[in-house]
Amino acid sequence: MYNTLSGRVEEFRPLVGNRVYMFVCGPTVYDHSHIGHARTYISFDVIAKYLAYRGYSVFYLMNVTDIDDKMIQRANEVGIPVEDLADMYFKSFLEDMRALGVDSVNLYAKATEHVPEILEQIEALMEKGIAYESGGSVYFEVKKFPSFGKLSRQRLDKLEAGARVDVREEKRNPEDFALWKAYKPGEPSWDSPWGPGRPGWHVEDTAITMRYFGSQYDIHGGGRDLIFPHHDSEIAIAESITGKEPFVRYWLHTGFLNVEGEKMSKSLGNVITIKELLKRFRPEVVRFFFLHSHYRSPVDFTLTLLEEAEAAYERLENTVSNLRRSVKEASGGVGETGGTGGGGEMERESGPGLGEKALETRRRFVEAMDEDFNTREALAALFDLAREANRALAEGGCTPEEVKEALSVFEDYGGILGLFGTPADTSAAAAEAVIRILLEEREAARRKKDWETADRIRERLAEAGITVEDGKDGPRWRFSGV
Ligand SMILES: [Zn+2]
Repeated sequence: MYNTLSGRVEEFRPLVGNRVYMFVCGPTVYDHSHIGHARTYISFDVIAKYLAYRGYSVFYLMNVTDIDDKMIQRANEVGIPVEDLADMYFKSFLEDMRALGVDSVNLYAKATEHVPEILEQIEALMEKGIAYESGGSVYFEVKKFPSFGKLSRQRLDKLEAGARVDVREEKRNPEDFALWKAYKPGEPSWDSPWGPGRPGWHVEDTAITMRYFGSQYDIHGGGRDLIFPHHDSEIAIAESITGKEPFVRYWLHTGFLNVEGEKMSKSLGNVITIKELLKRFRPEVVRFFFLHSHYRSPVDFTLTLLEEAEAAYERLENTVSNLRRSVKEASGGVGETGGTGGGGEMERESGPGLGEKALETRRRFVEAMDEDFNTREALAALFDLAREANRALAEGGCTPEEVKEALSVFEDYGGILGLFGTPADTSAAAAEAVIRILLEEREAARRKKDWETADRIRERLAEAGITVEDGKDGPRWRFSGV
């Protein structure tokens, strides 16, 4: 995997055996989540699932920022307590993740539920003389951690001039960051040795990961925009406290997301929420769209590209439906349309094609994913298999075993990517039922020698992408291929 810390693709070795401790920066729950969140969390969902597929025992932890400046500001605007705002939008976040099939997180940890751990870390930094109190707030003195900026490769003198650091009189140096923020009227607060206040942002993550993972762990993920100052500050806090480095062995970051060529921002009014997106597109299509790019590549989000992704995904999905139906027919299961019931037709010859292609696809998929989770290449391998499967199904010349093997490739890897799943099954099953009814009506028309009706049904089905062929055992149908 590509490690932002070294700037190289490195072989992955967990700290302890086959255990993987993975932490990803979670949402600040002050508003509905947007498509930038969708991209990051779908990427890490697939990464967690792939690592599990490769035999690792993955523990995936995510923090939830339920107290910070944005939370307080928004709660005041809406006129509700910060707690209620947090509850409302954390629920909304979970709904969105469930809808997108992001279900690999083992534990969500809220900042407000880890204040004792946060205070413990701040006290440790105070004792070491790395943090100082000023006006009831506590700051991390960046100069006391000489390698500050090693993740983003920014030098300290540059940081001082940086636009993102806020200048406050009570700080010794402009680059110092708050570990604890003194209470202001109207804000939620917790008791501390320095008076009432609330935690700063960076220390929230280090306190949470140290509680569950200890002083060092395997993978820390997040969006690129979090590298500086957030992740650099986390390293500074953790390594100052424990003296152990690296705090995190592998730092993984997802690429930027633009909307129609522009940065997504509230001021530009182009923020698209996950809920808005899912009104128009199915979750699988959204996953497919993002997975079609490598997680580190920049993505431009446009309606046209999404519609193209939808069409491409449906072609793949049609192939999977055809394979499922073929397997069902071969095993004499219910639901076939005038099939032989015994799979006799498919056994007529065993071509060398599909079975070998399925094996090759497995090899290509794993190779692609082993190389820094290259989902784009992995999907390309599935498309090649789909093409071969469509050809084999249309022309015959493959055994039921080969069809089953091809289907199992889609189902195994669909499980990792979150594609070809149950929601699609439901709509595909409904479509198949309707097609069956139409074909029964067509057969009835044919028996009455009403050729006009029979032909019209067949033509209308062809227009809808469903090919009907009349065989000695009755009509067979399939979705038109890739
Ligand atoms: Zn974070």
